[in-house]
Amino acid sequence: MTATLALTGSMLIGAADVRGRGKEIRGVDPATGQELEPGYGLGDESDVDRAVSLAWQAFPVYRATSLRARSAFLATVADNIDALGDTLVARVVAETGIPAPRVRGELARTTNQLRLFASVVADGRFLGARLDTPDPDRTPLPKPDLRQRKVPLGPVAVFSASNFPLAFSVAGGDTASALAAGAPVVVKAHSAHPGTSELVGRAIRAAVQAHDLPEGVFSLLFGDGRGLGTALVKHPRIAAVGFTGSRSGGLALVAAAQSRPVPIPVYAEMSSVNPVILLPGALASSGASLGTEFVASLTTSAGQLCTNPGLVFALGDPTGFLAAAGEAVKAAPGAAMLNTAIHKSYVAGFTRLVDAAGVTEVAVGGTDDAIAACGQAGLFVTDGDTFLAEHALQEEVFGAASLVVRVRDLAQLERILDTLEGQLTATVHADESDHDTVAALLPRLELLAGRVLYGGWPTGVEVGHAVVHGGPFPATSTPATTSVGTLAIERWQRPVSYQNVPDALLPEELRDGNPLGIPRLRDGAAE
Ligand code: NAP
Repeated sequence: MTATLALTGSMLIGAADVRGRGKEIRGVDPATGQELEPGYGLGDESDVDRAVSLAWQAFPVYRATSLRARSAFLATVADNIDALGDTLVARVVAETGIPAPRVRGELARTTNQLRLFASVVADGRFLGARLDTPDPDRTPLPKPDLRQRKVPLGPVAVFSASNFPLAFSVAGGDTASALAAGAPVVVKAHSAHPGTSELVGRAIRAAVQAHDLPEGVFSLLFGDGRGLGTALVKHPRIAAVGFTGSRSGGLALVAAAQSRPVPIPVYAEMSSVNPVILLPGALASSGASLGTEFVASLTTSAGQLCTNPGLVFALGDPTGFLAAAGEAVKAAPGAAMLNTAIHKSYVAGFTRLVDAAGVTEVAVGGTDDAIAACGQAGLFVTDGDTFLAEHALQEEVFGAASLVVRVRDLAQLERILDTLEGQLTATVHADESDHDTVAALLPRLELLAGRVLYGGWPTGVEVGHAVVHGGPFPATSTPATTSVGTLAIERWQRPVSYQNVPDALLPEELRDGNPLGIPRLRDGAAE
C-alpha cells in the first residue's frame, strides 16, 4: 500500500465509502486552532445497522479462518499502517498536537501490538484447548469425554480514545485483540482525529481485501457518541464493547449495554490517578532525583496519559523531593493539549486544586500564548488529614497536574489507601531500609491497582504477555481483565465444552492427535 493523503471524509462501511448525512466535523490543530480538511459527515443509526449487519454476515466466515490466515491478515494490517509512515505521523501531529517523536513511538507500538497478536493467533494457546480423558468404566457413573475451547463472542464495537490516536484507536489494542479472537470490529472513531482514523481505517480495509476476507470484518463510523455511539452499543448483533475515555462516557455505555434486552459486556478503561508512594528511605537517599524524574513522567504528553502520576504520598520528609520537583515544574514549557474540550476540562480541574482549602501551590509551569489549547503543568501539596477529609482531591485531573500528600505515619497511609478508588497503577519508591513497609503495603496495593511498580514511573506501558492495564472501578468497568497485552484477547471470547462429540465432528483444535499442533491441556496438564 502506498502512502497517500487522499482523505475523503467518508465512513468505511465494509467495502463502501459512505458519506454521513449528519452534521459535518473537522479535525482541528490544537496548536493553532485551525480547522483541517476534509469535513466528515456524521453517520446515523442506518449506518450503524449497515456496518453491524455486514459484521454479523462476516462473523461465521471470519471466525472459521485458519490460524495461519488470520495471523497473516493481522501482519498485513501492521505492514499497511507502517507503510503510511510520515503521512500518518504528520496527520496525527496536526490533529492532536502530539510531538512527532512520540507519534512515531506510538506508531511502532501500534504495529508491534498487531504483530504480537499475529503471533498469539499463530501459536493457538489463546483457543484454550482442554481435554478431559473419558472413563466409560467409572462407577457409579461413566466419566464423559469433555473437550473445551474458546470461541469469539461476535461482532465487537470499539470506541477510539483521544489521547492515543493510534495505539488505543482505530487499529489499537481493542481492535487488534478482537480481530485476533476472530471477531469482526466496528469502530466508532474519536471526533478529535478523523483524518488519522480514516488513514488507519483504509489500511485495515486494504488488508481485509488483500486477504479475501468478507468486507464486514471491519467498518469505521463517524458520529456523535450519544447518538450513533449508543445505537452501536444497543445494536442486537453487537456482542461486546471496548472503550477508553472519560468516566462519564464509559458509564453511559455500560448503562446502555445493560439496558439492552440482551445485556453485553463493556470493557471500559476510564479514570485513574496512579498513586505514587515515597517511603522514608527513598526520600532521604534520593528525594531530589525522584523529584526531577517524577516531573518528567508527569509532563509527558502534556500529562494526557491514563497512567499519569496524579497523586503522590510522601511518608517521611519530602523537602528535597518538593524542591526539585518544583524547579522542574517551573521549567516545564506550556504544551498543546489534545483538543479544546480536554483543555477546558483540565483548566477546570487545575482551578479546583488552586481553590481547594488546605491545598498549597508548589509551582506552576510555563504557558505559551502562541498555542491555542496550551496546558500548564502544576504541582500542589496538602497533608493527609486534608486529603482524607476531601474526597474530590482524589479525582482525576487529566493533564500535567499532580498533588503531593504529606502523610503522618504508616497508619495514615494505610487509611488513605483504603479510601482510594481503583487504579490502573500503584508505584512504591523505597530503599532497602523500607522493605518491611513495602511488604506491609503490597497486599493493599494489589487490591487497589492492576499494575504494582517498585521504582520507576507508571507512564510508559510495556505491551507484552505479563502486563496488566486494568484494575478495579473506576480504572475500568470490568476489573477481571486488561486492555493492553496478550491477555486482552480473552475479553472477546467465551469457553464452550463439547461432551462426547465424535472426533470427526469436533473443531480441529480439539481432535485426537492435535492436528493443529497447538498447546493444549489434557487432564489439567500440558499435553
Ligand atoms: P470521552 O468524552 O469519554 O469520549 C470518548 C468516546 O466516547 C468518544 O467517541 C465519545 O463520542 C464517546 N462518548 C462520550 N460520552 C458518551 C456518552 N455519554 N454516550 C455515548 N458515547 C459517548 O473522552 P475524551 O474525549 O477522550 O476525553 C474527555 C475526558 O476523558 C478527558 O478530559 C479526561 O478527563 C478523560 N480521559 C481519560 C482517559 C484515561 O485514560 N483515563 C483517556 C482519555 C480521556 P463523542 O466524541 O461524540 O462525544
